[in-house]
Amino acid sequence: MQPFFSKTGIAALREWCRQRPLFALDYDGTLTALASDPRETLLAVNIQTLVRRLRHYVPVAVLSGRHRPELATLLAGVEVDFMIGNHGLDWGDPTHPELQRVQGLVNGWLEQLQVSPLPTVAPSGWSRRWSGGRVDLPGVWVEDKQYTLTLHYRNAADPDQALAVINAALPNLQPAPQISGGKRVVNLFPDAETNKGSALVRLMAEQSFGRAIFFGDDDTDEDVFRLEHPAILGVRVGYSPASHARFYLRRQQDMSKALAYSLACLRRASANGWMQQSG
Ligand SMILES: [Mg+2]
Repeated sequence: MQPFFSKTGIAALREWCRQRPLFALDYDGTLTALASDPRETLLAVNIQTLVRRLRHYVPVAVLSGRHRPELATLLAGVEVDFMIGNHGLDWGDPTHPELQRVQGLVNGWLEQLQVSPLPTVAPSGWSRRWSGGRVDLPGVWVEDKQYTLTLHYRNAADPDQALAVINAALPNLQPAPQISGGKRVVNLFPDAETNKGSALVRLMAEQSFGRAIFFGDDDTDEDVFRLEHPAILGVRVGYSPASHARFYLRRQQDMSKALAYSLACLRRASANGWMQQSG
């Protein structure tokens, strides 16, 4: 991994910008800093402005693990071209048979975890303490995202102990979920092939985007970085020696600078007439 703010990083950014790339952005920990209550992570005003300006030049996608309707609320009126939720599963068509199938799986897990089904629309209803008979851990929240589940243990008094209890409970679930860790979260996925990586590749193919720049910070974003796709410029928010991203930002607060640099590159590329397709 190399720093994004380096000669190589900026050279790569310029190369991508000349080809009018899709900007694909993770939400939590990337566009916003992580908060102890995930409901409170509205997009900061300066980032709102930068995203709006980006869209003058390029298409923008938000690719998040969040429940899609909630993501729309958090974006606070900032329009984007594509909003894909649930780690690549939810493109906004609830009638899709695959989504209906996985919703059934997730409801089964919720029952097994002894959490009563949650109203899907009430904004205050998306999460609650995991306090079923099997486990009672203050500070652990089950987030029902309809097609996936996320267990948050950031607010547990002893996060390591909370994780141990969660890990002990999960192998009992039927059918077995795919499990992926993250920053004080455990994500439960249906056994689908879909992840952020496959979703981004599909979006590029469907929309004929030749290039994409992707910013992400967490384990599920590695599904994009791991592709090491020649047309995708991967930037991780936060250094991680194990990451497959080509570049990294030191911290989330550097995102506004990264977007501002990107805008400057796009302005120049636009003024120069973008790169000729025949190249
Ligand atoms: Mg994230």
